[in-house]
Amino acid sequence: MVLSLEINSGAAELKPQVFVSSRVVLGERVTPGTIVFSSTTGKILSIHSTILPESAFPPGTPYTDHTPHVIMPGLVDAHVHLNEPGRTEWEGFETGSRAAAFGGVTTIIDMPLNAIPPTTTIENLETKKKAAQGKCWVDVGFYGGIIPGNEKDLVPLVKAGVRGFKCFLIESGVEEFPAVSSEDVEKAMLELKDQPTVMMFHAEMIPPITASVSDVVQHSDPPLAPSGPLNSYKTFLDSRPPALETYALAEILSCAPVAPNLPLHIVHLSATECLPILAEARANGVNITAETCFHYLALHAEAIEDGDTRHKCCPPIREKNNQDGLWEALRGGLIETVVSDHSPCTAGLKQLNKGDFFSAWGGISTVGLGLSVLWTEGAPRGVTLPEIVNWCAYKTSKQVGLLGKKGSLEVGWDADICVFDDEGTFTVTSDDMKFKNKVTPYESKELRGIVRETWLRGERVFSRGDGFEEKVGARGQLLLEPRTA
Ligand SMILES: [Zn+2]
Repeated sequence: MVLSLEINSGAAELKPQVFVSSRVVLGERVTPGTIVFSSTTGKILSIHSTILPESAFPPGTPYTDHTPHVIMPGLVDAHVHLNEPGRTEWEGFETGSRAAAFGGVTTIIDMPLNAIPPTTTIENLETKKKAAQGKCWVDVGFYGGIIPGNEKDLVPLVKAGVRGFKCFLIESGVEEFPAVSSEDVEKAMLELKDQPTVMMFHAEMIPPITASVSDVVQHSDPPLAPSGPLNSYKTFLDSRPPALETYALAEILSCAPVAPNLPLHIVHLSATECLPILAEARANGVNITAETCFHYLALHAEAIEDGDTRHKCCPPIREKNNQDGLWEALRGGLIETVVSDHSPCTAGLKQLNKGDFFSAWGGISTVGLGLSVLWTEGAPRGVTLPEIVNWCAYKTSKQVGLLGKKGSLEVGWDADICVFDDEGTFTVTSDDMKFKNKVTPYESKELRGIVRETWLRGERVFSRGDGFEEKVGARGQLLLEPRTA
């Protein structure tokens, strides 16, 4: 066998390990396959779309047949709020990254807001890096933030390794991360126009006709005055109509010519009314992509009970027909990625006792449950695992400039591997929530698909049977290298 020659001559210090399964996700295919990776370099050494027998390898080579479970790349969750430092009672690097590992997610990208300080200057990024050191169970990258007046910090942040930038066109919910005006957006675009980065937008914005009614918007969460009981989900939904998203998208597109080469990205797109606008912009050559979230694809307004503020997020979870439209756009390629937008807070701030959708913190805790959530909802719709890998690993990796390393099983890339039992089911209990605050709308829901094992750069960090590999520990790295194309 070529392979044993390769290993024999190629050096035992690579400590090769072999995974085989009747089902391996390789690109768009699910095929019988063999993955050989190095426990020392953490890289994939070779891939074969056939099951090689143990005898093909030098004696003593660790060899695991994962059949009937699926071997797939670890997920890259490109939208997570870890809130450390500063709001560590909400979440933290340790708990958030453990939750990721539990769910087969091997890379998470931390949002620039909700930690204090926000990641808007080099100094703040340094604070963030120090806070993360030694606590990450998976690899972690950082986004920078765009706020009014920090445009001169942006290029230095690119050089320091942030994987993109996020800004808000509407109040973010925290005072240290104010919204930007269209003027600020254009300033930032001018700074970033030739940089290897991506500019991302929380795309909700109050149309001027509403904004002129100042008493309506004096407190912009909700942007529109509630017109019914505060614990009614419908009242909340009506306060954040699709027009907020479509208006914001139009505003972003009107700024886009300032930096035609700069990739733009809409985070957590919810309203399907945005889709024709997005399609037209892309057809006209605008360099813009969009993500949606597990919750918009798996939950819908009609099923949300009044007072159940676990479902509050912005933009809101909309009706069933909207959900169907998002699935269609995703499968058609118009929406390219699916992320968690894991945005936790303390149980107290969720105001579960009061059930007031207007004063509760907006954000849904999902990190580590996403793969099962998506598979549960997607499988009956005919979705395949390669599609999920494309949305949640390959394309998210591309978005943050990590292709060549993350997001696919390829020779020379990181051996970030998820072993997935696509037939198993489990009912979500607090034990399955490894994030800090055990509050999620998925509690008590039965999910299809269980992550059996998660491997980070050639080492197992989690298994369903043995739990976290405490001996291996928090070996996650901070991803600060330059972006790949
Ligand atoms: Zn977010």
